[in-house]
Amino acid sequence: MAVSIKSAREIELMRESCKLLADVFYHMEQAVKPGISTYEINEVGDKLIRKHGCIPNFLNYNGFPASICVSVNDEVVHGIPRKDHILQEGDIVSLDAGLIYKGYHSDMARTFGVGEISEDAKLLIERTRQSFFEGIRYAKAGNHLYDISNGIDHYIKQFGYGIVIDLVGHGIGTKLHEDPQIPNFAQKKRGLKLCAGMTLAIEPMINMGRSDVEWLDDDWTVVTEDGSLSAHYENTVLITDGEPELLTLYEGY
Ligand code: MG
Repeated sequence: MAVSIKSAREIELMRESCKLLADVFYHMEQAVKPGISTYEINEVGDKLIRKHGCIPNFLNYNGFPASICVSVNDEVVHGIPRKDHILQEGDIVSLDAGLIYKGYHSDMARTFGVGEISEDAKLLIERTRQSFFEGIRYAKAGNHLYDISNGIDHYIKQFGYGIVIDLVGHGIGTKLHEDPQIPNFAQKKRGLKLCAGMTLAIEPMINMGRSDVEWLDDDWTVVTEDGSLSAHYENTVLITDGEPELLTLYEGY
């Protein structure tokens, strides 16, 4: 497994890539309202990525037909934007996207409520987000990769939610998906030692029900097998000798 360590110059480019992506998310979040189609959300994100002079890295990735993954309710990830999929009050919607700036990739995801959502849905979103922060408490040079996985798992377990096993986080840099893979569930081994200069996309995907997922016939959309809601939270993270730097964080969220 070859895990890339970024130079100071590369880290600067990653920071800029991630900052621009966070701005795209800020604007997509404003667009999430009852009555908007998932296609229109993709349009908002795609246009802004290009306006920033960047390339949407999800578009055509293994044939994915859009720039933004828009996944609603029981859709976990990789939802394909559609003109006839209109967001309704009470839905939750996960947006996952990335871009390329001067050859450097960024990747992030957030789940938003559409209008007023149930208390259970709010808790799922908030706890999914918190699980990321529980995981990255261990994300520093000298610790091991699976300390992060264990941190996420340990926190989520108490709620009886299902952690998605089939999809994992990943290294990121000049490629969207680099080594290592980063599971969101407990591991018996310790995994590789973390070093300053690694950039990782850490992304817990949490189901309100069981952890099992399945793929729809479009070969992209991943849904929960039991139909329960699913939430996703992801940042591109820089490992340092101290606290990790969350490169895609915006407005503290
Ligand atoms: Mg990712």
